[in-house]
Amino acid sequence: MYEERILKEIIKLKEKLAVEKDSPLAIQIPEGLKQYATEMLEELKDYKPVLFVDPCFGACDIKDQEAIDFGCKALVHFGHNYMNKPLINTYFVPVGYLFSKEEKEFIFSEIKKLNLKKINLVTTTNFLDDILEIKKELISSGIEVLDSKETMHVRKHMVLGCDSSTIIDKENPIIYIGDGVFHPNNLGFVFEERDIYVINPILRETKKLEINDRFVRQRYGLVAKALTSKTFGILVSSKHGQFRLRFARHIQEKLEKLGKKVYLFASDYVKEEYILGMKIDCYVNTACPRIAYDDFANFKKPIITPQEVSLLEDMTKEFKVDQIRELENYYSRE
Ligand code: SF4
Repeated sequence: MYEERILKEIIKLKEKLAVEKDSPLAIQIPEGLKQYATEMLEELKDYKPVLFVDPCFGACDIKDQEAIDFGCKALVHFGHNYMNKPLINTYFVPVGYLFSKEEKEFIFSEIKKLNLKKINLVTTTNFLDDILEIKKELISSGIEVLDSKETMHVRKHMVLGCDSSTIIDKENPIIYIGDGVFHPNNLGFVFEERDIYVINPILRETKKLEINDRFVRQRYGLVAKALTSKTFGILVSSKHGQFRLRFARHIQEKLEKLGKKVYLFASDYVKEEYILGMKIDCYVNTACPRIAYDDFANFKKPIITPQEVSLLEDMTKEFKVDQIRELENYYSRE
């Protein structure tokens, strides 16, 4: 059934592909779709497709430069939405999951059970189409689903693991529909005072998100270690949507003013094993913000965010969560 859906998307894609049939086409698919990779390549074989098999973590991770290097005329990125202006003509094919009738009924009844009058409703790109349909039903049943914002990077009611800016309302509860904890955790980091409910219709589970005291305490613990660190390594990713070199340079200046020794380390994928053995006391991560938040325990040295460097200057400053999309000025390659 899912396979059929992908094939339908490929037929639609072929109708709009503005490249010659024998022009090489670069393809990227998320891990979850790799089981259908050969069928997808077969469907696109007239375009001489090249599949980039590196793990793809999001639309921040498009292989546009690599597609150019491979002589491709366009890139097709399955599973995610547009996030940044690509360097090559790129077709985004989201291929979302469609909830079953029972799963939709579960979402609706769980929201009703919460007995809330006004809600913020969010999900990921995978479930967005269905959620917009459920939104209409909720409104007809008397629940006010608050408006949200569309940006260059997210559609209305859509969140990323580093961007919850679609939510504009400042006080009402947030309901996240979807699976996993990656995206809801970012909501918890950003909206620390808010009631956040996570409804997973696939597991038939509803939970209230509990996150923040522990999260902020852990972060201040790492900042305390950074305060006594003398030598810093700033991590910069070359991934298109994570590339924050100018921001890294800005952080370098700040740290140097504090008397620290600072070095810049670049890689595509940020991994501690690439930097092990170097004489560094503390890292500052400018790549995917979730590396510092979710993987800090896997690093032998403290790893802090660019925003936490401001706390090194003055511990009374407000604690801010690193949201990659808020740093557009520093982000652009141009
Ligand atoms: S930067 Fe990290 S959290 Fe943001 S979209 Fe990419 S992988 Fe997801």
